[in-house]
Amino acid sequence: MTSLVIQTAFLGDVVLTTPLLEALARRTGPVDVVTTPAARPLIETHPGVRRAIPYDKRGRDRGVAPFLALARALRAERYEAAYLPHRSLRSAALAWLARIPRRVGFHDGWPLLYTEVQHRPAGGHESDRLLTLAGEPPHSIVPRLSPTPADEAAVDAWLGAAGGLAGGFVALAPGSIWGTKRWPYYHDLAERLARREGIVVVGGAEDADLASEITAAVGRSGGRAVSACGHLTLRQCAVLIARARLLVTNDSAPLHLATAMGTPVVAVFGPTIPEFGFGPVRETDVSVGLVGLACRPCSDHGPPACPLGHHRCMRELSVDRVLAAIEETGALRRRD
Ligand code: SF4
Repeated sequence: MTSLVIQTAFLGDVVLTTPLLEALARRTGPVDVVTTPAARPLIETHPGVRRAIPYDKRGRDRGVAPFLALARALRAERYEAAYLPHRSLRSAALAWLARIPRRVGFHDGWPLLYTEVQHRPAGGHESDRLLTLAGEPPHSIVPRLSPTPADEAAVDAWLGAAGGLAGGFVALAPGSIWGTKRWPYYHDLAERLARREGIVVVGGAEDADLASEITAAVGRSGGRAVSACGHLTLRQCAVLIARARLLVTNDSAPLHLATAMGTPVVAVFGPTIPEFGFGPVRETDVSVGLVGLACRPCSDHGPPACPLGHHRCMRELSVDRVLAAIEETGALRRRD
């Protein structure tokens, strides 16, 4: 019988849940996943997933009646087991109300609603921590996504229309929903990189203004950068990142897309730190952050605005430091 995974956290968390999905699928076949409408396209094509079930907990499905309707629908599926990587009361209650006989969650979630409780490791990468729900050792499975041939073709067409990127390009992801996680110097970095590399800005439609700053700055210096923000679907964005020689990103979802697509990464950390478990996975990727700042880190997610008002964690992180990190990856020295 099929297992169910309930993961309605942020996009990046869903990407980091893919090793768990793969581990479970290897044992009992592809699983069903309850996830957000935003994350659904990312995992519905994953080979470890039979069906991605959207649950719009903050929108259309907000409130008790849609929640109970989903619980009834899940109950009718007669799942054998539910896995609960997200420490959310709503997820735990959903599995319980769906009367799924085996419910596996972490000790720091809602153990009274689980039938099996796993200890969530304090350290390590989040993708490895989530894997322990399936009893798998760390590093045994890495995050991955499976875009379709149609996604690949759409990106080929977009790159063809953008032109001038045949020699390869560096992708920049300047956005984040958390204001303090946005490094403010992507336009300066782009100007300096554009002397030797094509530049593509990646993100959603909400990042279009940030992208315009970058493309305008590069344009003023005689270079060329193009923005894909809002022009591609999420899976196509993953393909675009896969085509890049390197991604420079904040501590946000594109970092995990690059991890899942095998693209070298430089990750810029401000109010958060890689030790929280959400940094790059590969040893050849590089994280940069301001060392020795007493207020850092200041929160799990990064606050919307700096509580001290100065935002030194990002403002004092120089373009030279990020350029040095790019060199450290070696990604731009390799021409294949
Ligand atoms: S308090 Fe410190 S770590 Fe937090 S946002 Fe401000 S400068 Fe960054």
